[in-house]
Amino acid sequence: MSNVIGDLRYVEVKFKCTVCGLCCIDTKMELLPEDIERIETLGYRLEDFAVFDEDSGVWRLRNVNGHCVFFNEETKLCKIYENRPIGCRLYPLNYDDELGVVVDKYCPQWGTVPPSEVNRLRPIVELFVRRIRETDVYVKARRAGIRIRLRIGQ
Ligand code: SF4
Ligand code: SF4
Repeated sequence: MSNVIGDLRYVEVKFKCTVCGLCCIDTKMELLPEDIERIETLGYRLEDFAVFDEDSGVWRLRNVNGHCVFFNEETKLCKIYENRPIGCRLYPLNYDDELGVVVDKYCPQWGTVPPSEVNRLRPIVELFVRRIRETDVYVKARRAGIRIRLRIGQ
């Protein structure tokens, strides 16, 4: 499989999300390099929407007032919905080191995720996790002010 999470239209869990906004509260969502670049092209600066997690060596979405910086408190909607990070698109699918791909029961609608969706998106979640664990090179270069190519083979 390619190393790139390509057409984002298919990276979306089909289930009965009620847009309750719970998953945008106190977010710890990891950002892939392409998430960072996509959001930056919207005009946001990295420091304004992300915080660097020294422990895990990845960038995560920034919280403001206890919720993701992109969460609109009034509408409960995501301000960058079409461009939201891949991890947000895959939620409520999660990865457990022992169990593999699981549905996160923190989401009140977790029970409406069909097994077929778990199966369809399993390779993408696994690729996402692998890529997140490989982001140190990108992060180090980025912090040193060096631009690097993100997409292998392009
Ligand atoms: S917690 Fe679940 S139901 Fe609520 S907005 Fe997030 S994905 Fe949708
Ligand atoms: S980017 Fe959007 S979907 Fe993801 S946590 Fe923030 S507000 Fe929620």
